[in-house]
Amino acid sequence: MALIVQKYGGTSVGSISRIKAVARRVVRTVEQGNRVVVVVSAMAGETDKLIDLSRQITDMPDEREMDLLLSSGERVSSALTAMAIQSLGYRSMSFTGRQVGIITDSSHTKAMIERVEAERLRRVLREGIIPVVAGFQGISASSDVTTLGRGGSDTTAVAIAVALKADLCEIYTDVDGVYTADPRIVKEARKQERISYDEMLEMASLGAKVLHSRAVEFAKKYDAPIVVRSSFNNKPGTLVTREDREMEKIVVSGVTYDKNQARITIMSVPDRPGIAARLFKAIADANIVVDMIVQNVSTKTKKTDISFTVPIADAKKALNITREVSKELGARGVNMNTNIAKVSIVGVGMRSHFGVASKMFETLAKKGINIMMISTSEIKLSCVIDVKDTEKAVRALHRAFIV
Ligand code: ADP
Ligand code: ASP
Ligand code: MG
Repeated sequence: MALIVQKYGGTSVGSISRIKAVARRVVRTVEQGNRVVVVVSAMAGETDKLIDLSRQITDMPDEREMDLLLSSGERVSSALTAMAIQSLGYRSMSFTGRQVGIITDSSHTKAMIERVEAERLRRVLREGIIPVVAGFQGISASSDVTTLGRGGSDTTAVAIAVALKADLCEIYTDVDGVYTADPRIVKEARKQERISYDEMLEMASLGAKVLHSRAVEFAKKYDAPIVVRSSFNNKPGTLVTREDREMEKIVVSGVTYDKNQARITIMSVPDRPGIAARLFKAIADANIVVDMIVQNVSTKTKKTDISFTVPIADAKKALNITREVSKELGARGVNMNTNIAKVSIVGVGMRSHFGVASKMFETLAKKGINIMMISTSEIKLSCVIDVKDTEKAVRALHRAFIV
């Protein structure tokens, strides 16, 4: 008898008829002789609605309050899913993150799971009850509700799978698996049968919404297999697993984009030791993750510009901090551009191939797309471009590297 964690995303529980369909799939899996733990997201659009309500009050809502607000979406869907399973004649109970012991740090709105005390889940499973866990949430040491960042229900599911030593974690979504690019933008995108943890981690971190990057990190660390598949059909999906020889043969396995980025530039700061340290420490102390950083060569006046990117959700906070630091450092000013996007190519085969970067730049140039920033790692290459060019860039890169 296998233990399977099944996570259903927003669209998969987006209406009562979808919730009933989820309940039928869960019951079918149980009838096939498995034990199942269900994890659900909020019904499609609910989290956005809650965010919008808060924005009608303030554009910088208190993050502790935000977390209690946002966690309510998953409470609704988990209770409804448990009811739907019960109505098929099975025992089921819904739980919040706190009730199943998802313990996180206290960084509100992007908390990290520190441990999962899965005792309650084990007990319930032993009693033959199907647990339905509200995804995306946990509890901090001070007993405050936390959330795990957008898309975080995937991480709840994988963390529970690891804690329970489940045989498999299935992520049910609205596409058939992990594609070579977002299938909603690139119609020639192909579904991948398998993808390595590292490639998936890069793709997720670089904007491929299909899996939350923290979920992939967990899975990689504990070598836990994940299958991404559709809740709308019975196709086999994509297995996220350890890298093997076959995977190295493919140079670029995916193209991604991320429109949720902002670029902040601090202009004419003195070019001397300690400046970058001062600025980026202040930003890190606010729990903001900086992605790309570019510093210009300094002019004769020993002044330079520093540009960096942050997630758009943190942009206002980062801008305020940068303004403060800028005054202290005597910089000429600070500006922010939220009309940017990051396009990236990912592949473990890039490690051993030359000319990938130049081909990427050429491809963008041929489309008349200007590159504002570049960053590279062993298995990925990213360029920041104007947001209006995103779709064009993704399609062109897919054509150049994949099809
Ligand atoms: P869920 O609500 O089920 O968690 P998400 O919206 O978070 O679903 O993620 C699924 C979406 O991710 C798809 O609808 C698709 O548009 C998008 N996506 C982006 N890149 C990819 C990719 N490479 N492969 C598959 N889906 C992708
Ligand atoms: N409901 C949350 C979101 O929309 C978490 C999730 O769906 O995974 O981001
Ligand atoms: Mg998601």
